[in-house]
Amino acid sequence: MDRYEQVIELAKRRGFLWNSFELYGGVAGFYDYGPLGSTLKRRIEDIWRDIYVINEGFFEIECPTIGIEEVFLASGHLGGFSDPLCECKECGEAYRADHLVEGHVEFADGLKNKELDGLIEQHDIVCPECGGKFGCTYEFNLMFKTSIGPGEGRKGYMRPETAQGIFIDFQRLARYYREKLPFGATQIGKSFRNEISPRQGVIRLREFTQAEAEIFIDPKDKSHPYFKEVEATSISLFSCEAQESGTIENTTIKDAVSNGTIAHEFLGYQLALTQSFLLRLGIKPEYLRFRQHKKDEMAHYAIDCWDAEIKTDRFGWIETVGIADRTDYDLKAHSNVSNQELSIYVEYDEPITTKEMVIKPNMGKLGPIFKGKAKKVAEAIKGLSPKELDKNEIRLEVDGEVVVVSSDLFTYSEQTVKVSGENIIPHVIEPSFGIDRILYCTMEHAFESELLEDSTDNDSLEGDRRNVLKFKPEVAPLQVAVLPLLTRNELIQPAREIIGLLRRRGLMVDYDVSGTIGRRYRRNDEIGTPYSVTIDYQTLEDNTVTVRDRDSMDQIRVDIVDLSETLYKLIKGDIIFSEAGELVT
Ligand code: AMP
Repeated sequence: MDRYEQVIELAKRRGFLWNSFELYGGVAGFYDYGPLGSTLKRRIEDIWRDIYVINEGFFEIECPTIGIEEVFLASGHLGGFSDPLCECKECGEAYRADHLVEGHVEFADGLKNKELDGLIEQHDIVCPECGGKFGCTYEFNLMFKTSIGPGEGRKGYMRPETAQGIFIDFQRLARYYREKLPFGATQIGKSFRNEISPRQGVIRLREFTQAEAEIFIDPKDKSHPYFKEVEATSISLFSCEAQESGTIENTTIKDAVSNGTIAHEFLGYQLALTQSFLLRLGIKPEYLRFRQHKKDEMAHYAIDCWDAEIKTDRFGWIETVGIADRTDYDLKAHSNVSNQELSIYVEYDEPITTKEMVIKPNMGKLGPIFKGKAKKVAEAIKGLSPKELDKNEIRLEVDGEVVVVSSDLFTYSEQTVKVSGENIIPHVIEPSFGIDRILYCTMEHAFESELLEDSTDNDSLEGDRRNVLKFKPEVAPLQVAVLPLLTRNELIQPAREIIGLLRRRGLMVDYDVSGTIGRRYRRNDEIGTPYSVTIDYQTLEDNTVTVRDRDSMDQIRVDIVDLSETLYKLIKGDIIFSEAGELVT
């Protein structure tokens, strides 16, 4: 079994991940999160919230998962959110054509359908299911379509990303943040993509969870106020150049920004933040890299784009987060389709003076001539270009009607004016996280299958194998296992009291009385519970219990009065088990 198989087997057996609709045979691309999976997912999302919402101050919003047609017309998803599909002429099985040719070209992403067909023919690629020939490749839109309301209703689509809701709320958000750049909003929620052939388990789902931040910044100022705090961060970059030479650069954020590898400080800051999130989850630093999008892969409007890639045993490097400078593309696109101005007034540090043509319509003369229309004519006169001002007679269009205005109906002069700001369309920096992929990677990187040689565990035999998920304490779904040494009433009673104590402190506790203490430790190791509390006969004498550390298997005795606080601090990382088996700060 490779690590993927081992982790998925454990995940299914212990209540992390289950195939959806299993009762009816299952459907590819859907997974249920069981009790431990849901809790683990929630912990990952809460750490993300801690970073982006609490620390960065990008408030969370919640928009519908169904979007209307206009949204996806503007975003481009209706026109271009598709993958190349080809079907077997014999058995009808569908495949992504770019995936089929992957072993035969260096880079299959972005190849045209004709090129894909050519490669399929050239390399004699046949259906992996039945060996049949493929038909021509065509584009398949990945959005799930639905209708809103009864009958034909209004066309709706399940959102393929959470970002669009934030763009649509731009004006409201700008007001909420008192029109001060930079500001941002976040959204954690389900996204839907009708993937053609999801054959990679939780890596490619048809319904998955995204955590996205859309950060609106001044296009003329892409520095970051807290860049200093992250500039010394070491990071593995697989830049466009590095991809040519095949070597990853280990550098600092500061160097990568100053030598232009990363486009600017604001993006560099986001890469550092992404790395700190992933490492906090327990992703192994040596299995994390940031890959830059090549020019032909990057969206035409983007300035720079990086994927956080995590190495997995079966699938190699997989994209888990996309971080991009999307410029003003999204706001402009929604502005065009909605006919609303999506801009923000930015005040200059110092007002500037410029020369401006000031046109003053003469209302005393315009009134009697144009009557009810005079005001609109005056507005149209104010909008005249300097070239037109010199003419004796000017033709203007007002309410669809042409009116002729003579030059004595207004005066104009060039004046020096003070300008204290301007309307700008902000640029968008978008970090976009795929929570399900990150959750799987967190499990795979935490998973170890160890041979115990001289275990200190009460009940383990030499040569015993234990499977353990070495989750960081703040990530582990269950935080404490409470285990009475024996199933005797005199030990069960204090155990119950301890459970109450820990639950009141907000800790997620499991109570297990079945089997030997060693088996119970193993069961908890396997699901990653970082600490076990054992109640034994000494407890009845001196009110102490043992606390066992999952990773070192060391045990210490702790007074029951200090227990909940000690465990809380251990989980928060304020204290740790030292190598000497003591608690240290
Ligand atoms: P994208 O909008 O395609 O850049 O996706 C952003 C993130 O969502 C990716 O980095 C993935 O982690 C995740 N993601 C995209 N598609 C899927 C999928 N079909 N299943 C699971 N996660 C996905």
